Amino acid sequence: MSEHSTIEWTDATWNPIRGCTKVSPGCKHCYAETFAERFRGVKGHPYEQGFDLRLVPEKLTEPFSWRSPKLVFVNSMSDLFQEGVPDDYANAVSQVMVGASWHTYQVLTKRSERLRDLLSGKLEFAADKENIWWGVSVEDRKYGLPRIKHLQQTPARVRFLSIEPLLEDIGPIDLSGISWVIVGGESGFGARPMEREWVVSIRRQCKASRVPFFFKQWGGVRKTRNGRQLDGRTYDEYPRRVAAVVPDRSSCISFAQAILNSFRGNSLVQLTS
Ligand code: SF4
Repeated sequence: MSEHSTIEWTDATWNPIRGCTKVSPGCKHCYAETFAERFRGVKGHPYEQGFDLRLVPEKLTEPFSWRSPKLVFVNSMSDLFQEGVPDDYANAVSQVMVGASWHTYQVLTKRSERLRDLLSGKLEFAADKENIWWGVSVEDRKYGLPRIKHLQQTPARVRFLSIEPLLEDIGPIDLSGISWVIVGGESGFGARPMEREWVVSIRRQCKASRVPFFFKQWGGVRKTRNGRQLDGRTYDEYPRRVAAVVPDRSSCISFAQAILNSFRGNSLVQLTS
């Protein structure tokens, strides 16, 4: 939804869906919910309906309007694979990511089984694209580690883990087939603390497996003061990105129009041009 983002590991956010429901302890202090609920009932505001799930088809083709290649966090205010999102709509979002291929997309979910199932079936066309990074959130052993297994069963070209908020020592992790790991602590009021040893263990495992490691933040109530240095330095590693050039404006409009046309008449997607 925003051409620029303050999230450390991305350039922009794109939200063709708004709202979500909580599924595990990592959701407890969901920043998206806190933000969205602030505007519940505010007439005309994008979050007038708070954090209730809402498809936003008018945002679907937004990546075609950006004039430089970006790293895009998809659905920073939602989860593409939550139950209430129809397969057809997830398909439309994936078509845009495949079509506007000059951007690199980061799709992060806690619904790892649906991610695996759709990418093995209806969304297979988007699974092996180098410009789409598919990731799961990992906050603890109980909920997070099974998601890694599901991700490894997904036929994705680029898989990543967002280990945030890290709530405990998650122990040994199987990093086979994983291209990127982000680690971060929880921030804001009531933030649950993260211990250095938990982070160092993950950094060590990434190094041993040659997996790029990104340390996002220590978090805490004073996130800015606590910063993002680990042992005197920052860790800003990324997977390889495909270099791409944005086509001219009229080509972008044609690409977007072709995608809109392919969904015209679909009552679930209800695209507008
Ligand atoms: S899955 Fe993500 S967006 Fe949804 S409630 Fe949990 S933290 Fe928030």
